[in-house]
Amino acid sequence: MVLISKTAAARIQKIGSFSQLKKREVGEMQSIDCAIVGAGPYGLSAAAHLRAANGLEVQVFGETMAFWERYMPTGMLLRSPWAGSHISDPKRVLTLDAYQSVSGNHVSAPVPLDRFVQYGHWFQQQAMPDIDPRKVTRVEGDVAGFRITLEDGEVWKSRRVIVAAGIATFAWRPSEFAGLPAALVSHTSDHRNLSRFAGQKVLVLGGGQSALESAALLHESGAEVEVVVRAPLVRWLWPHPWFHTFKPVASLLYAPPDVGPAGVSQLVARPGLYRRFPRGVQDRLSVRSIRPAGAAWLKPRLEKVPITTGRSVVYAVPAGERLTVKLNDGSERRVNHVLLGTGYQVDISRYEFLSAKLLATIRRFGGYPVLNSGFETSVPGLHILGAPAAWSFGPLMRFVAGTEFASRTLTRRILGKAGLRRS
Ligand SMILES: Cc1cc2nc3c(=O)[nH]c(=O)nc-3n(C[C@H](O)[C@H](O)[C@H](O)COP(=O)(O)OP(=O)(O)OC[C@H]3O[C@@H](n4cnc5c(N)ncnc54)[C@H](O)[C@@H]3O)c2cc1C
Repeated sequence: MVLISKTAAARIQKIGSFSQLKKREVGEMQSIDCAIVGAGPYGLSAAAHLRAANGLEVQVFGETMAFWERYMPTGMLLRSPWAGSHISDPKRVLTLDAYQSVSGNHVSAPVPLDRFVQYGHWFQQQAMPDIDPRKVTRVEGDVAGFRITLEDGEVWKSRRVIVAAGIATFAWRPSEFAGLPAALVSHTSDHRNLSRFAGQKVLVLGGGQSALESAALLHESGAEVEVVVRAPLVRWLWPHPWFHTFKPVASLLYAPPDVGPAGVSQLVARPGLYRRFPRGVQDRLSVRSIRPAGAAWLKPRLEKVPITTGRSVVYAVPAGERLTVKLNDGSERRVNHVLLGTGYQVDISRYEFLSAKLLATIRRFGGYPVLNSGFETSVPGLHILGAPAAWSFGPLMRFVAGTEFASRTLTRRILGKAGLRRS
């Protein structure tokens, strides 16, 4: 048994593991096989798969499920179905079902955000209890791999880096709102608790799940809400009475993750096949699969919320403590706040931790990295998972359901490379 001081114990809790602390105290630079940036579903899943592969030294950096915990609104429900909300582990035992039966916590469907966050923490505890919660501030190329600098200045070396840093930095704010104070305009990802707008007039922009669900939560917490949607109509994801619910037909047309329309869903669920289709076809299917839409269960919650379609914002100017917003039909709104449900646009140059030199050598297309079949960028040893992988592997990569394909493919690739397998 190892005895440690109270101070050391506190530090271990912060940085995650005793072996790390020991190495830090003797001033040794950490050297590992794979460093994973980010402890969301993709980072956790990749770590679970890589750790299970004999002998690989893998370290995850970042706070567990931080994006879900800090950037999504309290009361939110997952839009993805139960079957598309498991984080993948190599033995397929750390599922939502397993979490429910082990913890005794009932998980309803659609899955509530707080339960999903608890599931993520439980997954992490089972798969890799020793993650390091520190933020990665710099990743740069080095002779034998990469140098990783952490928020407190500590430097690690790793032969590979797997970026699973999510979409928080990609929140998209239309230029009409540039320079306006946060008290008047914010993005949906800026809020954990929407009840702070109770009694205020809020204009929500956007017709996707995030905008519509935020509008419902605002309305339910006592705000006076209007939704403005650029598209001519709001698309609701009603399950088709035949295609979706008649089992033999449904399972032919829709794969379990349920991303994309009938038939396309089966292709989207097979990213290895998807990426073989001509670029033009991939792009068209991708647009059809992730069109802004709201889950059917949101519609009744928005019955009393006015939704103005086919309109966009021409300009917005502060007027005292309020904001005057002019729409393209010439009408105006005077509101306390505009909430941008305008989504996310992937652009890996906004991952500030990637050094300029490294970034310059990553082949990209429109902000997305161009990845090979092992999720590897044009920089050998540097892999990227999650939404940024969607240009190379299709829309499944934007969802938790994509962790199964991504982690298995990544692990196969890394183990297949000579020199990384240890006895
Ligand atoms: C409102 C909303 C609702 C959604 N609902 C669903 C849904 O129902 N089902 C679904 O499948 N998907 C949903 N998504 C998409 C969801 O974001 C992704 O499926 C999921 O987060 C992908 O996991 P990830 O690991 O790639 O990213 P994340 O979950 O974002 O994890 C990335 C992690 O990396 C960390 N990180 C970033 N930079 C650093 C750094 N420098 N150092 C250390 N750590 C770092 C972040 O803090 C974060 O915790 C939703 C998204 C939004 C915005």
